[in-house]
Amino acid sequence: MKALIVEVSQTQRLIFANILSDLHMEVEFSDSGKETLALTTQAHFDLICISVVLPDMQGYELCGKLRHQAETRETPLLVLCSGASDSAAQCLKAGATEVFYKNSLASFEEYTQKLINSIEHRKLQSGQILYVEDSRAQCDLVTRFLESHGYTVNPFDNAEDAFEAYRQVSYDLLMTDVILKGRMTGLGLVRAIRDECNDQRLPILVMSGFDDKTRTAELYRAGANDYVNKPPQFDELYARVSNLVNSKQLFDQLQRRNNELTQLAILDELTGLYNRRFITHMAEKKVAEAQANNTPLALAVLDIDHFKQINDRHGHPVGDQVLKLVSDQLASVCNTNTVAARIGGEEFVRLTTGMDLEQVELASEQLRDSISRLTPCGIDITISIGIASLQPGNNYATLFKHADQALYQAKQSGRNRVCQFDRIDI
Ligand code: GH3
Ligand code: MG
Ligand code: MG
Ligand code: MG
Repeated sequence: MKALIVEVSQTQRLIFANILSDLHMEVEFSDSGKETLALTTQAHFDLICISVVLPDMQGYELCGKLRHQAETRETPLLVLCSGASDSAAQCLKAGATEVFYKNSLASFEEYTQKLINSIEHRKLQSGQILYVEDSRAQCDLVTRFLESHGYTVNPFDNAEDAFEAYRQVSYDLLMTDVILKGRMTGLGLVRAIRDECNDQRLPILVMSGFDDKTRTAELYRAGANDYVNKPPQFDELYARVSNLVNSKQLFDQLQRRNNELTQLAILDELTGLYNRRFITHMAEKKVAEAQANNTPLALAVLDIDHFKQINDRHGHPVGDQVLKLVSDQLASVCNTNTVAARIGGEEFVRLTTGMDLEQVELASEQLRDSISRLTPCGIDITISIGIASLQPGNNYATLFKHADQALYQAKQSGRNRVCQFDRIDI
């Protein structure tokens, strides 16, 4: 980054140059207003420090001229004064960014540090912007500006195509003009996104040549988040765009974290199946629904046979692999009507809605058979299954107790089999 110091005194030059060099800025010098105007059209400066008194013009005059020059319209201009004087206010009015006193260097240093941080931060932006603007020249200008700050911009000259693109890609910001080519206006596009798609998350920045309060009120009511006049002042545009994109990205990040936390809270770590707490909660809801609608609901409790021996003979890590493989098999037969969970060491449940007990028995028999054919790490494994169906007036605890009693029966009668609660002698 490069700074220009406009100052005649060699001592002052040295003082300010030292501060800026310590902040890793490259420094150039200028003696006069005229030289400054010439230098700034030839090279880009990220910062210009101007002494309030110059040989050929006043500091405030130079500020005004720099503000009227395209290359320096938005460059930070820091005016350096020797003592309190009226010229500080004059400089600010003429467009200076801030005024500093030569005897209070700490505040100059602190301010410059922050400024450099924000300029550097600008260069690191990223985000996908959907941009709708029918003026080609305006569109190219803004697109180039945003791309130079790291954003990816997808420009369209009509709202219909932009809406189509919106449906395909996840954007961090929509920027739209109001009057566009085609039938749909910018306002129509805002409404389509907020009302038709019920999307309240995508930030929307409207840009228009009309500075009409009724129109802007309507845009905000329709769901726009922000508004800028055309042609935009780029510094302001950048500040608004980065605010909106950053908030959206922070919100997305928060939501991703929330989803991760939710997953951690409901899933079993080893197998990725639902955990006991979650399946109990879900099952209680499903039981209530089934009782209210008089629809069938059944529960299967599964337990790996002689699993302790597997651990004892082959070690705990192999035992874990067996658990994962059995879980994968169980997960592969789940669908919208069937959910599975690991409720303890080598015990699982499978909850099925809309199937009668006969169908559940058949499905359980198939599962038992498919697991008996697996030979994880060369080990023969089998499972026992107990099944029960929900009876009128029963809750989940009773349903579970019945299926568990059937499982006990399956173990007692030789393992590697499916038993139904209805058929056991208690
Ligand atoms: P049964 O046929 O009667 O069910 O006999 P079993 O050996 O399968 O049943 P038991 O309840 O005696 O033993 C279950 C074993 O499961 C004991 C425990 O060390 C093991 N276990 C529990 N959780 C895990 C785990 O996460 N990983 C591994 N590898 N073993 C586990
Ligand atoms: Mg237009
Ligand atoms: Mg067990
Ligand atoms: Mg067991």
